[in-house]
Amino acid sequence: MARRRMIYEGKAKILYEGPEPGTLIQFFKDDTTAGNGEKHELIEGKGVLNNRLSEHFMTGLASIGVPTHFIKRLNMREQLVRAVEMIPLEVVVRNVAAGSMSKRLGIEEGTQLPRPIIEFYLKNDELNDPIVSEEHIIAFGWATQQDLDDMVSLGLRVNDFMSGMMMGVGIKLVDFKIEIGRVFEGDFQRLIVADEISPDSCRLWDVESGQKLDKDVFRRGLGDLSEAYTEVAKRLGVMPRQNGSSSGPKLVH
Ligand code: ADP
Ligand code: UDP
Repeated sequence: MARRRMIYEGKAKILYEGPEPGTLIQFFKDDTTAGNGEKHELIEGKGVLNNRLSEHFMTGLASIGVPTHFIKRLNMREQLVRAVEMIPLEVVVRNVAAGSMSKRLGIEEGTQLPRPIIEFYLKNDELNDPIVSEEHIIAFGWATQQDLDDMVSLGLRVNDFMSGMMMGVGIKLVDFKIEIGRVFEGDFQRLIVADEISPDSCRLWDVESGQKLDKDVFRRGLGDLSEAYTEVAKRLGVMPRQNGSSSGPKLVH
């Protein structure tokens, strides 16, 4: 059996060469990090949950015409995706003030924003992913004005779709991060949603109780992360078959 080629190992995922040119296999690890890797733990089953949840969100987006890198899930931890040329930016969309925005601007967490706000962060671990303006992005050539327009449009479409889907299961989509890449098709190129969409990259609050169901549970030491993610998966009807004690109904004798 041939050993497959590893392309990249990041904090939460590994990329392998895919079976055909222009494809990659994305492996979801259980590694969970916060503060740019300062806090690090293995949380059993997290990779399985994120693989399934990212598949669920990406296929939903594709069904409404939002292009994504997702091709198909291969197994519990891996999915086949289109290889893209990543734009070195994180696109954050916010509906409610939280996290770094609350800290930076002194706006209380939980404050509803008058409209969705989009921010760009430079993907650079050494610099701690600093926030950057559209001026910086264009001046330093990280993306063009057309790319920026397309990224804003993709961000807002993902926000509309994800907000609706989450609201349908009693969860408020507070904010999220997406990463976007470029694909080339003949003489044309276009931008598609890549990386992952999962509770690692979103803030999700239970509408009734305000309970956090996302990576803040880990970042802030609020309890059991895999329980929180399992709750999200359950509500969305996305339950992996093997996921610890709380997976699915049990036979009562
Ligand atoms: P990090 O690099 O921040 O530690 P991950 O562990 O999630 O994060 O690594 C996944 C890497 O794969 C990221 O750098 C991301 O930009 C990249 N990536 C995600 N999807 C694709 C894709 N379709 N094509 C190429 N690269 C991708
Ligand atoms: N986010 C992410 N990866 C990052 C930084 C942020 O997925 O490297 C997500 C985070 O989960 C949240 C949103 O982007 O849903 C906004 O994060 P924020 O800027 O508030 O940063 P934080 O304080 O969470 O580090």
